[in-house]
Amino acid sequence: SRPYLIGGNWKANGTVASVEKLVAEFNAAGPIPPNTDVVIGAPFIHIPMLLNTLRPDIKVAAQNSALTGTGAHTGEVCASQLKDLGLEWVILGHSERREGFGMAGEDSKLVADKTKLAIDEGLKVMFCIGEKKEEREAGTTMDVCAEQMAPLAEILSEDEWANVSIAYEPVWAIGTGLTATPEMAQETHANIRQWVAANVSQKVADAVQIQYGGSMNGGNAKALLAENDIDGGLIGGDHSSWSFSTSSTGPE
Ligand code: 13P
Repeated sequence: SRPYLIGGNWKANGTVASVEKLVAEFNAAGPIPPNTDVVIGAPFIHIPMLLNTLRPDIKVAAQNSALTGTGAHTGEVCASQLKDLGLEWVILGHSERREGFGMAGEDSKLVADKTKLAIDEGLKVMFCIGEKKEEREAGTTMDVCAEQMAPLAEILSEDEWANVSIAYEPVWAIGTGLTATPEMAQETHANIRQWVAANVSQKVADAVQIQYGGSMNGGNAKALLAENDIDGGLIGGDHSSWSFSTSSTGPE
């Protein structure tokens, strides 16, 4: 069966001191359960610290990468530079970036193009999708997810999908404490997998990991991860209250 992928998304949080504290906690924690990868998505500025001090069995991700290669692109960080630094992963298309923080947000074509470039440069991508509250209420959840995945399906070869994990994050569940129930999440995950089967291939659909994100926590993770089509999580939350624990029974 598919391995679990447990991602943390620190968003624009943290200081040198708080990152040092979290690294000490992570490094002192027990072993990671078998069949599970753990990846922390950190702000660019904290990535070198993490690479130098964090236990090597926890991987580090960036939260964005540029649409272009290196050059005169002030303020951007390129996929090739992340790879050069030693990263394996980047999170792309997070709903917060699609929304845009008051600037022009990232559309699905742009997120697909960034994903293709990151994969070309040798990175793996947590590719975020998910509907807003009004879209779920209008019954268009799967239309939204399909629109977000379609440009990617157009430009990735079947083999390149091995470098993608789909992170399904319903926007209404992010940072709100409103988690999708395991049944609701499973239904959408199954529909996403079905879409991949129909629009990429059955082989990719069977293999691709689909993470759930949106108010996932120690209390609800076990039930979510028990669902057939939920292969991991992408977890934000209140940075100051985070802690890390492992158990022998699997990810919690
Ligand atoms: P929360 O866990 O805070 O809901 O955030 C989820 C998220 O956006 C992860 O990318």
